[in-house]
Amino acid sequence: MLNIVLFGPPGAGKGTQSERLIEKYNLVHLSTGDIFRANIKMESELGVLAKSYMDQGLLVPDSVTIEMLRSEVSKKQEALGFIFDGFPRTNAQAAALDEVLLTFKTSITMMAALEVEEEELKRRLLNRATTSGRADDGDISIIENRISVYNKETAPVKMFYQNQKLIFHHHQRYFYSEHFLQKYSPHLLSYFI
Ligand code: ADP
Repeated sequence: MLNIVLFGPPGAGKGTQSERLIEKYNLVHLSTGDIFRANIKMESELGVLAKSYMDQGLLVPDSVTIEMLRSEVSKKQEALGFIFDGFPRTNAQAAALDEVLLTFKTSITMMAALEVEEEELKRRLLNRATTSGRADDGDISIIENRISVYNKETAPVKMFYQNQKLIFHHHQRYFYSEHFLQKYSPHLLSYFI
């Protein structure tokens, strides 16, 4: 299985990057943000709970997020691979993801870290608000909260993948580490915009 974690601050382009990879490799796309938003729309219990955190730009608690992810993955027994978009966002989530994948006798193939400067992130999110209708994109104080939560709680997760040599840094232009060139064909990497 080809299992990719798309990692990066809000507005880094995780959704955009995932589109080409999904199409090319026929992967199951799991965006925790999208799943929460679908639950908010359905007014499910999970949605009501998630909304109270998302509206403030805070992370939904690990226990809830991990349980939801576990259940979504287990619905896709036939998948050729997964793109995890916006998950994991904490070290506890990263460890839980490894455990879930073990039950499929598989593991993470690579973690693509999208790196974009803060001013550019804010510009993109405010711009996205005009079409996404997302309340958390349209308010600069919520955006700043999300970026600061990313820096504090999520950015450290890079070490989890760095330690396993699974990280691929994508900083506007491609950056292929030697490890990645040996391990993956440039073909796979070329699907990153
Ligand atoms: P973005 O990356 O642009 O912030 P997402 O759709 O990935 O957008 O996430 C929107 C919100 O959903 C986050 O601010 C957070 O409140 C919640 N969320 C999404 N994924 C997670 C996660 N893995 N853990 C906790 N909260 C999450």
